[in-house]
Amino acid sequence: MNNPQQLITGKVRNDWTIEQVKSIFTMPFNDLLFHAQTIHRQNFNPNEVQTSTLLSIKTGACPEDCAYCPQSGHYNTGLSKEQLMAIDEVLDNARKAKQTGATRFCMGAAWRSPRTKDFDVVLEMIKGVKSLGLETCVTLGMLNDDQADKLKQAGLDYYNHNLDTSQDYYDQIITTRTYKDRLVTLQNVRDAGINVCSGGIIGMGEEVQDRYGLLMELANLPEQPQSVPINMLVAVAGTPLENVEKLDHIEFIRTIATARIIMPKSYVRLSAGREDMSEETQALCFFAGANSIFHGEKLLTTANPDENADQQLFDKLGIKPEVREVSDAPQDPSVADVVNAANADSVGGVKFTNAAV
Ligand code: SF4
Repeated sequence: MNNPQQLITGKVRNDWTIEQVKSIFTMPFNDLLFHAQTIHRQNFNPNEVQTSTLLSIKTGACPEDCAYCPQSGHYNTGLSKEQLMAIDEVLDNARKAKQTGATRFCMGAAWRSPRTKDFDVVLEMIKGVKSLGLETCVTLGMLNDDQADKLKQAGLDYYNHNLDTSQDYYDQIITTRTYKDRLVTLQNVRDAGINVCSGGIIGMGEEVQDRYGLLMELANLPEQPQSVPINMLVAVAGTPLENVEKLDHIEFIRTIATARIIMPKSYVRLSAGREDMSEETQALCFFAGANSIFHGEKLLTTANPDENADQQLFDKLGIKPEVREVSDAPQDPSVADVVNAANADSVGGVKFTNAAV
């Protein structure tokens, strides 16, 4: 059964085939957007968008070779390597993010997987950010089950680990970790009871078939990710993808709409690449079912529209930031305790000063 009209039921399914995803993706554009918006309205307030802020807590010199990434130590992109940020600096950034309307604070570290002494510091960061009344998300590379459990105990709400692309195209993009490695990390995160944030990047020179493949893999995970970031490649000079052909924005909007239809209850995040999109393209992405953005001037290391531009666009479109209650913020340690401990250099035997990388 590949008739898109019959396939679009609004139900969560984990047995999509490539042909079925293709039949939705390639529908006439107006039909595709109509169905995506209809499903969106069945599951979400169509005029609300969840906003997250992303902070790079450890930048550059990553041992992985992701072909799109300026932080990879394999490429010379002129990015300066930075050590793990101090906890009080992270919390200052989190406070500012909250003041500008973010409900989730995401922290990214350029690691293959976290080392123990760095990991303990990140656990304290999570507790501190959570006690500010923000949802927490981290992306730290590959995790084992024990690390995932510790993150959960620290109060982590979301773990980001993208599949990036289809299984078929994957080895053109990354050779230092396998697709299976990624699936294992996602399993560990799910098993620990942490929400999964997983998506991919479009416009890396892949065939359209690979876009179907990526969407199919995400939808067919044992549990569909709660959050699905769809990125449009930001081609960075010095990376192997610096001269890749630019993606047609209609293709990007089709990807968002298809994600909305086959993952009806997931938040679909309009992620990297917004800086290069017109307001009209972004508006169509929202109409196609995107209901989450990163705001703030930077996405780890690449530019993002500033908050004022986002607010103006929201005003034009009548979109409001989604308000969320963070009810399970740990009461102890308090933010003050964490900051004081950070200033005092250690708490519970954990060293806080820019833990050496
Ligand atoms: S995407 Fe992540 S894992 Fe890959 S090189 Fe960049 S920082 Fe490292």
